Amino acid sequence: MKALVKGKAEPGLWLQDVPMPQVGINDVLIKVDRTGICGTDVHIYKWDNWAQKTIPVPMVVGHEFVGEIVEVGANVKDFFPGEVVSGEGHVVCGHCRNCLAGRRHLCADTKGIGVNRPGAFAEYLVLPMTNVWHHNPSIDRDVAAIFDPFGNAVHTALSFPVLGEDVLITGAGPIGIMAAAVVKHAGARFVVITDVNPYRLELARKMGVTLAINPRETSLGKVQKKLGMVEGFDVGLEMSGNADAFRDMIAHMSHGGKIAMLGIPEKEIAVDWNTVVFSMLTIKGIYGREMYETWYKMTVMLQSGLDISPVITHRFHYTEFQKGFDAMLSGQSGKVILDWKS
Ligand code: NAD
Ligand code: ZN
Repeated sequence: MKALVKGKAEPGLWLQDVPMPQVGINDVLIKVDRTGICGTDVHIYKWDNWAQKTIPVPMVVGHEFVGEIVEVGANVKDFFPGEVVSGEGHVVCGHCRNCLAGRRHLCADTKGIGVNRPGAFAEYLVLPMTNVWHHNPSIDRDVAAIFDPFGNAVHTALSFPVLGEDVLITGAGPIGIMAAAVVKHAGARFVVITDVNPYRLELARKMGVTLAINPRETSLGKVQKKLGMVEGFDVGLEMSGNADAFRDMIAHMSHGGKIAMLGIPEKEIAVDWNTVVFSMLTIKGIYGREMYETWYKMTVMLQSGLDISPVITHRFHYTEFQKGFDAMLSGQSGKVILDWKS
C-alpha cells in the first residue's frame, strides 16, 4: 500500500510502498478516506529537535483521519466492515492507575499513532478496537477527518464553564479558531482571539468571534475598555505556545480566572507568579482528548448547529501532499485535508 513515510533522518516526507499492516485479534483494519495535516506532522516534516528526539525512522506519519472499516479481529464484536470511523490517536496502556480508573486521557504511557506507531497517512491503518470511534452518519466527511484537533479544541474549551463568561483565546491557529466557535456555541459572552498572522485573524473573524486582534497593534487593555469589561477575562485558552501571549493572558485575567493551556511552548516560559497568586488563577494543562466524553461532545455540538467547516481551507489528493505541506508551512492556511481515495 501507499503511505507517507518519514523515511530518512532529514527534512521531508516520502510517498512509498509499505507492507499492509497486520490485523491482531483485538484490532480493526480501516481503509483511510481523508486525513488532516497537523502541526505535529509539520514538525516531523521539518525534522526539528523534537522530531529528531521522538520519531523512529522509518515511520508512517499522520493521525487525523476518517475511513471505512474493512476487516476486524476475532475478538472484535462491536465494529463491522463498511462502518465510517475515526480513531483516537493516543493508544493508552490500559493498566496504569489512571487507565484502570477510566481516566484514560491521563495515562502515563500513551503512544501516539504517526509518532510512536504507524500512522494514518496511508491507504490502510490498524488500530486497537478501544481506539475506534463510530461516526454518526450526519457528520460531514471532511469534518470527520479532523475530529482529532477538533477534540483538542473541545477538550480545552470545555475545561471550565463558559456560559455567560468572557473568554480570551491566544493563537488563532486551526485549534484556536475551532475553540472560539465552541465557546461561542457554549454560551460565552465575549470571545476575543489574538494572533500575529493577519490571514488567521481573518479566518477567525469568519467564525463569529467578538474581536480578532493582533496584540502587537492593539493591547488587550484597550480591547477590554472597548468592550466595556470591568474586570479581566474569566476564562483563558492558551493555543499559541507563545511566551508573550501566555504572559499577556495572565496579566488580563479576572480574579479567580481560569486558564486551560494547550499550546506547547518551545522552551521554559518565565511568568509573573505574583499575578498568578494575587489574581488567584487556576492553570490547567491539556493533552489530547478525553476518551470518549470529548468525542461525544463533538458529535452532539455539530448536531446542535456548531459549524467548524470554515476552518478547512485547502484540499489535495495524497499524491499532491507536498502542496498540502507547503500550504501549512506558509502560514496562509487553516486545516489542510488530503484525500486518500485512489
Ligand atoms: P498553530 O501553530 O497553527 O497555531 C498557533 C498560532 O499561534 C499561529 O497562528 C501563530 O501565528 C499564533 N501566535 C504566534 N505568536 C503569537 C502571539 N504572540 N500571540 C498570539 N498568537 C500567536 O497550531 P494549532 O495546530 O492551532 O495548535 C495550537 C497549539 O496547540 C500549538 O502550540 C500546538 O503545538 C499545540 N497542540 C497541543 C496539543 C495538546 O494535546 N496539548 C495537541 C495539538 C496541538
Ligand atoms: Zn495507562
